[in-house]
Amino acid sequence: SPRAAKHVEGQRIRVCVRKRPLTRAECRRGEADVVYAPSGECVVVCESKEAVDLTEYILQHRFYFDQVLGEGSSNEEVYQKTAYPLVQHMLSGGKATCFAYGQTGAGKTHTMLGSSSSGTGLYALAVQDIFAHLSTINTALLVYVSFFEIYCGQLYDLLEHRKRLFAREDGNKVVHISGLREVRVDSVSSLLEVISKGTAERTQGMSGVNPLSSRSHALLQIQIRDLNQQIAGRMWFVDLAGSERASDAKDPNKQSRMEGAEINQSLLALKECIRSLDKEESHTPFRQSKLTQVLKDSFVGDSMTCMIANISPGHSATEHTLNTLRYADRVK
Ligand code: ADP
Ligand code: MG
Repeated sequence: SPRAAKHVEGQRIRVCVRKRPLTRAECRRGEADVVYAPSGECVVVCESKEAVDLTEYILQHRFYFDQVLGEGSSNEEVYQKTAYPLVQHMLSGGKATCFAYGQTGAGKTHTMLGSSSSGTGLYALAVQDIFAHLSTINTALLVYVSFFEIYCGQLYDLLEHRKRLFAREDGNKVVHISGLREVRVDSVSSLLEVISKGTAERTQGMSGVNPLSSRSHALLQIQIRDLNQQIAGRMWFVDLAGSERASDAKDPNKQSRMEGAEINQSLLALKECIRSLDKEESHTPFRQSKLTQVLKDSFVGDSMTCMIANISPGHSATEHTLNTLRYADRVK
C-alpha cells in the first residue's frame, strides 16, 4: 500500500520508568522516599528498614532502562520521551502501542489520562499532535477512537454502557472485536469528552473494596482513516490492571483469586509477546490471554511499543516497586 510504514529510526521496544512524587497523605504519615530516580537511565531502590541506621549497610537495587523519568517530570516531558516517537510512527502509517504498567496508585492513570490539577495526559497530548499533523497535509483523514476494558478475560465497551464484546480471529488470522463502538473525534476536546464518559463507566461498573479500575485493563485505540475507511495509522494506549493484583491468585476469596489469576496470566503473556517483537523468528504466545489476543497486531510486523513502568516512591511500596522494575527489566 502507498501508506506502508517506513521504518522509523530508533528502537521498536522502549522501556521507561516513571517515578511519582510522594502524595500529601504519604508525607503526612511519614512515608520515606526510597527511590532515587534522577532523569536519565538509572533508578535505584534502597531497601531501608523502619529506623535507618546509617552505619548499617543499606541494600540497594540498581536498574537501567531506556529512560527514567523522575518525580519532577511533567506529563509533557513523559510524552516527549515515551509516546511521541510512536505517534510519529503512526502518522507515517504504522502501528504503535503504549502501555502503563505498575502497582495500583503508582500513577498509570495520571500518566495516560492526566488530572484536573496537572493537566492532560498522554491520550490528549497524542491526539493534539495527530490533529496538528492532519491540519498540515492535503489528504482528508479522519480520527476514530474506541475504548473498552478487559476484566476477567471479558471485554466491555466503555463507550456503550459496558456492553459485552467478543473478539474473534477471522480466516486470515486477523482479530476483530465485533460490535465495538467507534467514535469519530474532530478535536482534542471531543476526544476528552468521549474518554471522560468511558472512564466514568469504568469506575461505576462495580462496587467493592478494590475499585474495578485496578482489576481491569483499559484499552484506548486511535485510528486514522481515509475517506474510504482505509486505515492510515493506528495506536493503542493501554492502562493496565494493577500489577500487585497478580499475587491475588493465591487469595482465599474465590473472586479475587479468579481475577488475580487472570491478571497474572495476561501480564506474563504480555511480557512474552513484547519480547518476541525483537526476535527474528519466534512464536508469539498471543493466545495465552485475552489482552494479548486483542493486541495481536501490536506484536507483529513493524509495530512499535513503549512500556512505561510507573513506580511509587514510598518505603512501604518497596516490594511492589521492585517487582515492577524486575518485570520491566525482563520485557526487553
Ligand atoms: P494508578 O492509575 O496507577 O492506580 P493514579 O494515576 O490514580 O494511579 O495515581 C495515584 C495518585 O497519585 C493520584 O492521586 C494521582 O493524582 C497521584 N499521582 C500519580 N502520579 C503523579 C505524578 N507524576 N505527579 C503528581 N501526582 C501523581
Ligand atoms: Mg488507575
